[in-house]
Amino acid sequence: MTTTEQIKLLPDQNEFLELRPGLYRCTFVLTFGPVGLPIATFLIRGNPIPATDNKAHEWIMIDAGAPPHAAQILAAIERVLSHPQDTLKYLCITHSHMDHTGATLLLLERYPTCKVIAHPEERPFLCEGKGYNSCSGDRWVFNVMKFLTGAPAKMKVPVENVVWVREGEEWEYQSVLKVVETPGHTPGKKSLVVCCC
Ligand SMILES: [Zn+2]
Repeated sequence: MTTTEQIKLLPDQNEFLELRPGLYRCTFVLTFGPVGLPIATFLIRGNPIPATDNKAHEWIMIDAGAPPHAAQILAAIERVLSHPQDTLKYLCITHSHMDHTGATLLLLERYPTCKVIAHPEERPFLCEGKGYNSCSGDRWVFNVMKFLTGAPAKMKVPVENVVWVREGEEWEYQSVLKVVETPGHTPGKKSLVVCCC
């Protein structure tokens, strides 16, 4: 962790910053007293929407931040998705810890056609209210940490809103975001490799 004062120097705090054409990052700081934990979310500009003369786009988000920042995250997204027909098409959740899923339900409410992309082994934690502290771990670090970070999620994502994807399986934006399984932090944790934008 870093002190909250240091984190205030981040150029993308509370606003999406375009890192390279079509790829944006926004960082929100979760504070624990005098220290802050920076939590990043990403936006990727997808295909243009022909009916809008290609002025509006489909957008893909990676992770949904922490619950206290949900309204700020939505506001920051709306400042980037500024065309009336811009739409959030996919929300890719790397894993279901609360600092990666916080704004999920708010985003599904605002963009009702949005689909969540997640690993099938995350289903109990993302959709069924199960906590990671119910998992048996094979490393002492996991077994200690799961009691600190493994509380059941306070929200349940409707399963009909989720598309389950494993490594090697194709999905619509496979050419942009490739799923790589990296289990250990959670059972279904996936890393997302940005291929191109
Ligand atoms: Zn985590």
